[in-house]
Amino acid sequence: MLPSSTVENYLKAIYQGQSALADGARLVPMGHVASALGVTPGTATTMVKALAESGLAEYEPYTGVRLSAAGERLAGLVLRRHRLVELFLVQVMGMKWDEVHDDAEQLEHVVSERLIERIDEMLGRPTHDPHGDPIPDPEGAIAQRHLESLLTCPIRTPLKVTRITDQDPAFLRFIEQNELKPGQELEVEGRDAAADSVVVRGKGQRRISIGARAASKLLVEPRG
Ligand SMILES: [Zn+2]
Repeated sequence: MLPSSTVENYLKAIYQGQSALADGARLVPMGHVASALGVTPGTATTMVKALAESGLAEYEPYTGVRLSAAGERLAGLVLRRHRLVELFLVQVMGMKWDEVHDDAEQLEHVVSERLIERIDEMLGRPTHDPHGDPIPDPEGAIAQRHLESLLTCPIRTPLKVTRITDQDPAFLRFIEQNELKPGQELEVEGRDAAADSVVVRGKGQRRISIGARAASKLLVEPRG
């Protein structure tokens, strides 16, 4: 069998591909898996076949792949370790939220269940990581909820930032500098189709113009 960190990275990529599927789609295209992992389609196919033989995924040649229940549970546990480690690095170690992802990518494969349980307890059984990503429970299950992005949410409605879906350090610094971190209150003033941008009114009535691509990575929910 292949090294477990490789298996875990495949499970995670397929899992995240599944949550990004359009309504009604069942299988994650192999091209998506290959590009998410930075490998050739041939390599991805070989690995996915091995996952299918181990009962962790269903593979349909020329179509795509989907995790089995066992595969989803394992993927959920990898994400649980990743997100708890990120929160630990920020809250306990005092690291910045834009510098923890790469370390978490390594540590998610090696921290023991005992250590993760201890971190979870120490942090007060948190539900979200510093980027607003939900932390799966000890069974690897995630409470899925649909969130609108700044591109799709209602205009002139009180909103709150819930989740940032891009962990690129430069992007996270942009978010921080503009006071758009999870928990921050804002309102969309309008969208400009010609400029392909969204105008947001944030903290202290500050007006910020955000490009459409960036706006799609900022998830929000109505402020109750
Ligand atoms: Zn991360």
